[in-house]
Amino acid sequence: MTRSGHDYLASLRDGREIWLDGERVGDVTSHPAFRNTAASIARLYDLAHDSAHTPVLTQGGVHRAYAIPRSYEDLVARREAYKVWAEASFGFLGRTPDYMAGGAAGFAALPALFRTESYDGSAAALAYHRRLAEGDLYPTFTLTNPQTDRTRSASEQEEDDLVVRVVAEKDGGIVVRGAKMIGTAAVFGNEVIVGTIEPLAPQDVDHAVCFSVPVGTPGLRFLSRTSYEARARSVFDNPLSSRFDENDALLVCDDVFVPWERVLTYRNVDVSFRMWWQTPAYLNFVHQAATRFWTKLEFLTGVAILITKANNTYELPPVTQAIGRLLGKVAQAKAFVLAAEASYEEVDGGRGGVAPGKDISYAQRIMAGELYPRAVQEVKLLAGGGLIQLPASGEDLLHPEIGPLVRKYIRSPGTPAEDRVKLLKLAWDALGSEFAGRHEQYERFYHGAPHVHLMQQAWEGGAPACEALARTCLDGYGLERTR
Ligand SMILES: Cc1cc2nc3c(=O)[nH]c(=O)nc-3n(C[C@H](O)[C@H](O)[C@H](O)COP(=O)(O)OP(=O)(O)OC[C@H]3O[C@@H](n4cnc5c(N)ncnc54)[C@H](O)[C@@H]3O)c2cc1C
Repeated sequence: MTRSGHDYLASLRDGREIWLDGERVGDVTSHPAFRNTAASIARLYDLAHDSAHTPVLTQGGVHRAYAIPRSYEDLVARREAYKVWAEASFGFLGRTPDYMAGGAAGFAALPALFRTESYDGSAAALAYHRRLAEGDLYPTFTLTNPQTDRTRSASEQEEDDLVVRVVAEKDGGIVVRGAKMIGTAAVFGNEVIVGTIEPLAPQDVDHAVCFSVPVGTPGLRFLSRTSYEARARSVFDNPLSSRFDENDALLVCDDVFVPWERVLTYRNVDVSFRMWWQTPAYLNFVHQAATRFWTKLEFLTGVAILITKANNTYELPPVTQAIGRLLGKVAQAKAFVLAAEASYEEVDGGRGGVAPGKDISYAQRIMAGELYPRAVQEVKLLAGGGLIQLPASGEDLLHPEIGPLVRKYIRSPGTPAEDRVKLLKLAWDALGSEFAGRHEQYERFYHGAPHVHLMQQAWEGGAPACEALARTCLDGYGLERTR
């Protein structure tokens, strides 16, 4: 059954080991670097648990992202659920619980993939899905090896334990040691799944393992990056970074014991990679992410409209055209979601349900990574210096002496100072703050580096059909058509 936001917050008080600025964080639900974002996530749980959106977000008391879609209609219903949560953070919380929930549903759609001669992880894969769905848990993931030296495989780095690897087998499970980057939202999760989504070299057998453990497991450490929430002056001054800073953390496993029932793949380079790509897990990730991306562009375009209306530039033809260009980008983002659904594919001959179409899902990553910085640039150009010429904080507006000056000089016809400052501070948080810079990097990289997904698109993105069409044209004439 779904949990309330209150129950979700209570579940985070489990002794998890999170480090920030050289200090161990006691409780993320009350710490100034995390508490507002934890509350924003709790609100998502409340929306699913008991609100007007409950019928859209859940099916049979379980979040829809955990359901294995069986038809086109199921995919549409899942996207409608994704959209509700995406709108609740205006697209700025990327790794909400529904992201990895789709991954878990992907594993459960094809458990046979986890069965090999040397290790059978199929029961663990099904148990992972069931545990998360029934407990309405928040699953997060770390699937990327630390950069260290990208020309060497995991086992060839200059020290043995730089990348998570199996160091021992014990009664009932394994012991793992090493690190993974970047655990987005891991500090807010209930479980973290550790694996590798990029190909492993044949010699990386010790690193070819995938398991999911509770975030509070002894020996698991999370080293948080800078907290934008902690740096936020107030909700008025930093309305996004103060509430939607989903955090990114380095995960360190310090001899962590993992029971076998939590080990999905074991010492198998091939399955540890294929579990992401040959189950619908990755396609389900993109379905959530593409819906969120579309929402984020809607939000940025809305901000652009409000700014240009406040500045009274909206009716100027070049400005109206720029808004048209942004709306074209919104439609493009939406089209990728709808087209991936319409081009759905059967999984395992239909036994594993359906998944969004592969070539369009893969192409969405390329489109989004390239389009996002351009959209941000477009809105910045429309906003001009007003984004910068803002009082340091809302305190200036409230001050008896300075407040009247701000009200006189920072305003527009029909937009009093308080509204204008509020709007432009929101815009700066979205477009130019450190939080905004992280979002640009996120949209470029969260689904893998471009050199990886461009190669994958070249291999699996329909090249033969394009080549055949061009070949058909060439084959339709010869030298005899010279004259
Ligand atoms: C904000 C953010 C959040 C993230 N959240 C998560 C998360 O929650 N979980 C998770 O598992 N991962 C997460 N990631 C990590 C993400 O999956 C990786 O960033 C991505 O896989 C790329 O790996 P990398 O960053 O190590 O880049 P690299 O692979 O090191 O690539 C960086 C650049 O180096 C060059 N390069 C490197 N290798 C090659 C090569 N072989 N050929 C050509 N050029 C090369 C390219 O220019 C490339 O763009 C997140 C990333 C970001 C930025």
